[in-house]
Amino acid sequence: MDDCVFCKIIEGSIPCDKVFENDRVLAFRDIHPQAPVHILIVPKPHVANLMEGVAHGSGLLTNMMEAAARIAAQEGLDQAGFRLLTNCGESAGQSVLHLHFHLLGGRALSTRMA
Ligand code: 5GP
Ligand code: ZN
Repeated sequence: MDDCVFCKIIEGSIPCDKVFENDRVLAFRDIHPQAPVHILIVPKPHVANLMEGVAHGSGLLTNMMEAAARIAAQEGLDQAGFRLLTNCGESAGQSVLHLHFHLLGGRALSTRMA
């Protein structure tokens, strides 16, 4: 999608700090980290949010979840723990309209929101 920042990162026209890639998923560090580890896990096809990701089917969400678990282990978070979340739509404050999971960890996270 032409005006989508994550599509531009996927195609390589905007740089990123990549931590994982396979044929369906790209993961890179968030530009404004909210925790010592803050990684965005993004599907390569442009889908706007979780609802479109489910509609897309073909195991895309499973691929993203599997990538998340693998990256958590790669970052050394599998024992200490981590948080995986997605903002879907306006009320959640989704600011980039290309589906992404936030993987957060590296310190004790607030229990006030989820
Ligand atoms: P949202 O608010 O949509 O759930 O999260 C979007 C996230 O994307 C934010 O945490 C923001 O910092 C991150 N972000 C936005 N633009 C870029 C970018 O160009 N590069 C990287 N690495 N992260 C970005
Ligand atoms: Zn996109």
